[in-house]
Amino acid sequence: MAETIFSKIIERAIPADIIYEDDLSLAFRDVNPQAPTHFLVIPKKPIEKLSDANEEDQALLGHLLLVANKVAAQEGLSDFRLNVNNGAGASQTVFHLHVHVLGGRPFSWPPG
Ligand code: AMP
Repeated sequence: MAETIFSKIIERAIPADIIYEDDLSLAFRDVNPQAPTHFLVIPKKPIEKLSDANEEDQALLGHLLLVANKVAAQEGLSDFRLNVNNGAGASQTVFHLHVHVLGGRPFSWPPG
């Protein structure tokens, strides 16, 4: 997989406001927040997008959701929204799988 801005964050080649890290994942604040709290949870494994994940990633994908949960609680969020953009047509701009976690304001449905 090509190097991305997120792989550079994992390698500490560029700075980020990292709020959680473990062996499998990293969470850091989005530089262009769309809510009072907006952070990204990423796997350290380079997966370009959700549709590239496969059976062997089952535990890792579950782990990302549990990390989202844990960091949301750490951030004081009870209600929050998760978002995964898969592919350019769904507004994915960084091709390293990431889960957006947004909170601190009301959210409408359906999303835009
Ligand atoms: P997506 O459009 O789903 O690919 O989301 C990519 C997200 O990464 C956007 O919300 C960007 O604001 C965010 N982003 C891009 N560069 C950085 C960075 N260096 N640090 C933190 N967030 C970033």
